[in-house]
Amino acid sequence: MEKKQKIVVIGAGPVGSLAALYAASRGNDVEIYELRGDLRDPSTTPLNFTKSINLALSERGLNAMRHAGQPKLIDHVKAATIPMRGRMIHGKKPNGQLYEEAQDYDIHGRAILAIDRGGLNKRLLDILDEMPNVTFFFNHKLTGADFKKNKAWFEVKDGTVSGDKGQRAREIEIDFDFMIGADGAHSAVRYHLMKYTRMDYEQQYIDTLWCEFQIQPKENPEDENLMSKFRISPNHLHIWPGKKFMFIAIPSDDGTFTCTLFAPAEFYTFLESDPSGAHIPDFFDNYFPGVTDLIPPAQLISSFHSNPHLPLISIKCKPYHYSSSAVILGDAAHAMVPFYGQGMNAGLEDVRILFDILDKHARMDENTADHDPASTRERALDEYSRVRVQDAHAINDLALQNYVEMRASVLSPTYRFRKWLEEQ
Ligand code: FAD
Repeated sequence: MEKKQKIVVIGAGPVGSLAALYAASRGNDVEIYELRGDLRDPSTTPLNFTKSINLALSERGLNAMRHAGQPKLIDHVKAATIPMRGRMIHGKKPNGQLYEEAQDYDIHGRAILAIDRGGLNKRLLDILDEMPNVTFFFNHKLTGADFKKNKAWFEVKDGTVSGDKGQRAREIEIDFDFMIGADGAHSAVRYHLMKYTRMDYEQQYIDTLWCEFQIQPKENPEDENLMSKFRISPNHLHIWPGKKFMFIAIPSDDGTFTCTLFAPAEFYTFLESDPSGAHIPDFFDNYFPGVTDLIPPAQLISSFHSNPHLPLISIKCKPYHYSSSAVILGDAAHAMVPFYGQGMNAGLEDVRILFDILDKHARMDENTADHDPASTRERALDEYSRVRVQDAHAINDLALQNYVEMRASVLSPTYRFRKWLEEQ
């Protein structure tokens, strides 16, 4: 896009931040509107009310960051990651002995990377902060949008209403050339977009809730080396498959593991039924052998009671855009269950593909008389929705299928036989 445009990005999560970076490095005026406060401010409530989730970053996401026009970004991001070369399946043999079984992801040893979502997000915000053509608007909630007149309205809770300590909100109106909606699964941009385009929309809550736990590092490791702080292998994504349930652990670069319990809602109700939590360690011993050696029972109980029990949603919709005015990316367009480890990766990939297509159309149109950026963008957005919907739906389906693989199929003799054959 050669002509300077005012691009507004809604949502300063990983996808919105990367989209802002792509837009700003093309010389546009970029404004980022975020519902919450600045993530880098310790008083800001984190997304999902959890400390931060650890994610698996794959080549799909890395490649999108590689093309952001910031050579140092990839080095910074990689420096804060831990390679996970495979899964480590934990179980118990019929004789009661605990076992671990490593299942590599790749015969060439390639790995996916464990990364702190908040850390990655902060890094992107820091880079944006240094760009003169980027302005942040935190505590700004999108409440309305007119995609024919290119106007949007926000509720602002930033303490500027006198005498009320920022509790009351004021409303502002803005104009824009192009809006990028990266405002997550419950996207307000998507909601308003539906009034302008014939959007097919489908959502599903799966019967599984998730809750976060932590494995603390060893208190007195034999040496100062970070690696000796980890209680289990730091280079694996650990899985305790429980058929109906699953417990996973992903390493963090401080020696801890962020763990997640995935279980049907009725089991949460059952575990919640006793306020003392006495049966929580028994439940773990039954289904996730060895976990109570890594997380003391009292800590399991307190984490279960104090951390939120959150739902998992899967969303498909199409198209992703309206005219030349707006497009939705990331979870706003295709929130998916986390079992394929691709939600954020696919969102970052959206950004790369969108800007590749916008650039291609800008190059095609640059020598046409009376070239109008809006009509160029309209053609580009049309192509973007066409090519991206199919891929996003496919990743969404794979993510749903992979829950069965992770919690049950990894234990089946057929799966092991197939793996054994692949290795011969
Ligand atoms: P979000 O991260 O949801 O950010 C949206 C932003 O928009 C937020 O900051 C929000 O405050 C803001 N916002 C919302 N509404 C408004 C509004 N009205 N106005 C202004 N701002 C607004 N993905 C992976 O790739 N790998 C993994 O291993 C992985 N593991 C996961 C594990 C779990 C348990 C979960 C729940 C998800 C996991 N994901 C994983 C998915 C990943 O977290 C999401 O895909 C990713 O965070 C989506 O990024 P986003 O920027 O699109 O949306």
